[in-house]
Amino acid sequence: MKEEGIELIKDGKRLDGRGFEELRPMKIEVGVLKRADGSCYFEIGNNKALAAVYGPREMHPRHLQNAKTAVVTYRYNMAPFSVDDRKRPGPDRRSVEISKVSRDALDPVILTEYYPKTAIDIYVELLQSDAGTRTAGINAASVALADAGIPMRDIVSSVAVGKIDGEVVLDLNAAEDNHGEADMPMAMVTRTGTITMLQMDGRLTKDEFERGLKLATNACREIYELQRTALIEKYSESVGGGEE
Ligand code: UDP
Repeated sequence: MKEEGIELIKDGKRLDGRGFEELRPMKIEVGVLKRADGSCYFEIGNNKALAAVYGPREMHPRHLQNAKTAVVTYRYNMAPFSVDDRKRPGPDRRSVEISKVSRDALDPVILTEYYPKTAIDIYVELLQSDAGTRTAGINAASVALADAGIPMRDIVSSVAVGKIDGEVVLDLNAAEDNHGEADMPMAMVTRTGTITMLQMDGRLTKDEFERGLKLATNACREIYELQRTALIEKYSESVGGGEE
């Protein structure tokens, strides 16, 4: 969005060889951390995200408790070594913003009213980043919440669409994000079509926006199937007496 002058589409293909409507390859693993109540590793292209969920547990400090519901917290953190130019460790404006929108993307599906006065803490660590890290984090966190056994209305799935060289494309990588014209991350509950996060950096026409939304909706369905299958596989293994 910021820099220009790079040709991002050649012979109808993107620089990494993908078509306009193609997601990067994904990998997902449930329950990778023993000390967390729920966890998930989610990979999409060169993004590697790890989510850990703790809770519901007693909320401290107590004055932050909600007498009627659990309080959901979300911490997004990009490791200093996860990007080409080392990132300064610790929170910054970007990570505070991403933590807030990601929390808000997941909160509507969590049945917080079941656990008054408690906290449900979600930690997302980006071990490798290549644009689309907030959406990768939400996908990982959503599965980690389910792995923690926290009652949810459904799983949230998340992806970005954008515009590069005048074309609406799915799931931007870092080169496309930096040199493209627009980036629109979103999160949704695929079964109901409810959008729980929608952001836009850059500009899209109404028609491009609608096309992008359709692309993202279809991609979220694909991601949802992967999330669902990973959870089913893990829990059918446990029930069948396989590895824990
Ligand atoms: N990025 C970086 N250093 C930073 C912040 C971001 O190299 O301090 C890169 C990283 O690859 C990230 C991408 O820029 O994934 C896009 O960042 P953005 O803020 O658009 O969020 P994202 O697309 O990762 O959700």
